[in-house]
Amino acid sequence: MTPRTKSQWIPQPFRSFAHSCFKSQANSDGQSPYRAFYQKLKTYPELYETFKAARSRINKEVWAKLRAEPELLRAKQEELRYHHHHRIRFKDVEVRSKSGTRALAHYHAHKHEEILVRTRLIFSWCFGVDVERSAWAREKLPRKTHCPVQQHERTYQFYACCGMQRYMKSAWQSISDPSEFLCNKHYAERGWNLAMPEGYVDVRTLKGIRKRYEELNPGPSSKP
Ligand SMILES: [Zn+2]
Ligand SMILES: [Zn+2]
Repeated sequence: MTPRTKSQWIPQPFRSFAHSCFKSQANSDGQSPYRAFYQKLKTYPELYETFKAARSRINKEVWAKLRAEPELLRAKQEELRYHHHHRIRFKDVEVRSKSGTRALAHYHAHKHEEILVRTRLIFSWCFGVDVERSAWAREKLPRKTHCPVQQHERTYQFYACCGMQRYMKSAWQSISDPSEFLCNKHYAERGWNLAMPEGYVDVRTLKGIRKRYEELNPGPSSKP
């Protein structure tokens, strides 16, 4: 049997793991993103030294400094994106299919655990495939501690909750401190009580959420 290399059959939470993408990633002037970033970095001598001292690893401090320089941050994210695709592209087909199989086995072994069910449900309500409904859930529901935010494209960001950089499009932004973000996994990990909006704690379906919204906000203008 020929190994399956298509990523479509892997369930959503693990799809990016086996995801393969064959786009050419050199930037518009044909330069490698790695080079472009280093050239830019050298024009910030102090940051360059910090970066070297951290042995090119981006820890929390380096990320904070990078974030203060939008142009440099963009170059770094460009570079990380390139590496992401590069790594996947040059993975051997067999290795790629093995890691896909492993991810699938892991998914099926753990998919019924409450914490994973919760993570999946919350993700699908706020960042799901139904773009319109997800946007509605992101904007209309009263949030307790964090608001769901979605960017147009995936970017590399440092997530303090995970202690590492992650390549994502969706996150939860703290209401009290807008510079603080939680990934969906760590947001959902805090339990239904904190994760669900006020008055929706017992609801477990999007249909139920919309019904509850109508009950809590009577009147024609508030129809979801
Ligand atoms: Zn990709
Ligand atoms: Zn996290």
